[in-house]
Amino acid sequence: MKKISLDIKRCRGCGCCVRSCPKGALSLGKGKVEVGDKCIGCGVCAKACPFDALRKEG
Ligand code: SF4
Ligand code: SF4
Repeated sequence: MKKISLDIKRCRGCGCCVRSCPKGALSLGKGKVEVGDKCIGCGVCAKACPFDALRKEG
C-alpha cells in the first residue's frame, strides 16, 4: 500500500525526491518518479519535491 501520494502530472522527473528518500523507495522510470514498496510514509520526499508532486497521506 502506498503511503505517499504522487500527482504524476506535476512530476518533472528531476530526481530530487529520489535522492532525499532515506529508504531508497523512489526510482525514476520513463521520466517520472515511481514509489516502491519500501516506502514508510515519512514524508521527506514531499518536502524535497520542488514541484509539489508528492503529498503525505493521512
Ligand atoms: S515518504 Fe519517505 S520513505 Fe516514502 S518515498 Fe517518501 S521519503 Fe521515501
Ligand atoms: S522531486 Fe518531484 S518533480 Fe522531481 S522527480 Fe520527485 S516527484 Fe518528480
